[in-house]
Amino acid sequence: MKKQTKYIFVVGGVISGVGKGVTSSSLGLILKNRGLKVTAIKIDPYINVDAGTMNPTEHGEVFVLKDGDETDQDMGNYERFLDLNLTRINYMTTGRVYKAVIEKERNLEYKGKCVEVVPHIPLEVIKRIEEAGKNSKADVVVIEIGGTIGEYQNMLFLEAARMMKLSHPKDVVFVMVSYLPTPQKVGEMKTKPTQHAVRTLNASGIQPDFLIARADVVLDNKRKEKISLFCNMPVDRVISAPDVDSIYDIPLNFEKEKLSDKLCDILNVSHKKSDAKAWKKWKNFAKYAHNGKHTVKIAMIGKYFETGDFILSDSYLSVIEAIKYSSYTQNRKPVMTWLNSVDFEKNPTKLKELKKYDGIIIPGGFGSRGVEGNLKAIKFARENKIPYFGLCYGMQMMVIEYARNVLGLKDANTREVNPNSKNMVIDVMESQKEILKNNSYGGSMRLGAYKAVLREGTIAKEAYAKKEIEERHRHRYEVNPAFIGELEVKGFVFSGSSPDGHLMEIAELPKNKHPFFLGTQFHPEFLARPLSPHPLFTAFIKACINKKK
Ligand code: GLN
Repeated sequence: MKKQTKYIFVVGGVISGVGKGVTSSSLGLILKNRGLKVTAIKIDPYINVDAGTMNPTEHGEVFVLKDGDETDQDMGNYERFLDLNLTRINYMTTGRVYKAVIEKERNLEYKGKCVEVVPHIPLEVIKRIEEAGKNSKADVVVIEIGGTIGEYQNMLFLEAARMMKLSHPKDVVFVMVSYLPTPQKVGEMKTKPTQHAVRTLNASGIQPDFLIARADVVLDNKRKEKISLFCNMPVDRVISAPDVDSIYDIPLNFEKEKLSDKLCDILNVSHKKSDAKAWKKWKNFAKYAHNGKHTVKIAMIGKYFETGDFILSDSYLSVIEAIKYSSYTQNRKPVMTWLNSVDFEKNPTKLKELKKYDGIIIPGGFGSRGVEGNLKAIKFARENKIPYFGLCYGMQMMVIEYARNVLGLKDANTREVNPNSKNMVIDVMESQKEILKNNSYGGSMRLGAYKAVLREGTIAKEAYAKKEIEERHRHRYEVNPAFIGELEVKGFVFSGSSPDGHLMEIAELPKNKHPFFLGTQFHPEFLARPLSPHPLFTAFIKACINKKK
């Protein structure tokens, strides 16, 4: 008999930002650990067809999938927790769903019917969910519905979930991630907002099977009983999820409440005993996060400061996680400090402060703001032999800095910043020219996984320990081939390039000139995983630790 795919919908109650993404990832992980094949889907209720056109301060990092889809940062959490490569079908937005329905209507695929919001939109959503499950031959599909219960935007997705439950009553489970506040003056944890959230969900025809109770501390039995009574679920389905210092503890905490047993029971799936070996590996990894004895100090230079510091960690989430994994394997706790590139422009004496750090990263970015500050910081790192790692824009900046200060091309620049430069060392890719002329910005960069070949005797080759690599990209500009010869004569090394040799993928200085001065045109951070840190990040962290010594 064909086995039936199971679906777990994760929805949020009370407030946003309480970790639906890591909850979904953790649910996936504990089920994977029971021998089940899991995949995950993120539904974002906005109209944007993808996350690519959004400013990271609005929506956090844009996570790029292997197939080039520009998605929400939660997709990165799923890939990292579940060690999976997801694809376009695993990501959905209102815009994407409507666009598909409208295109079908134009192609007469509804065969003359009146196409209506209900049921045609939810049916399209269901079709996509089922397809994602089928594509990855999943036993369980975890579907996270973005937003919070009670808002208008995600209603049609809830409707899809309700319809799925109706047609597969035994195969669909609902998990609500809620928040229980403890008002300071009252001093008691309150369940009422959660009760209301569950009632609102009930109004959509959905009864949650589990309640993940986010709070600053562990829930006591009294609270669990109250939720059980008023929210209509057995008390053992109320799962306490207290604040944690490290998100990687969450799956471990869930298992303290035997959540995978309970989920397997209710889904009625045949599962194995917990994979002790895999679990031990995860536990060991999670333990590192609490190891504070030895540190490595990294300066991250960025520009998305205007909405307050808290947003920065969202804008560069994958970079931060990649640094963590590589630091942990070196038995170090990374201490990251955000520096605003614009500050180096106004106040060059600030550059000296860079000496305090063991290494510097300039991550991806767009536009001209902060560029001159970045270039000053890179010059300082190069001249003072501070390990430097440039990611995408950070590599392009590295080339510009070298061209200006070593090749003496004073106005060297990227076309993105100065279209009148005489020394356009970073120029728009041939394939991008038409696209930019037509202003067709959405989903049109060089996106997703591309192969690159590495040059012998370089830091890159040594780090990867293989000849050919595949990494994810998101850019429109590239190193201008006209300047490669001149740069190389002056000691710059292009240690990775596209297999046809046209596009420069990695740039570095030889080890005898600088301990680690390396940049990548791609985004290595998208492939860093908890149990398999990224080799370039590890090489960078090792260089940082050496500098410390
Ligand atoms: N703005 C640069 C480009 O488009 C770099 C992009 C990035 O850092 N992701 O090429």
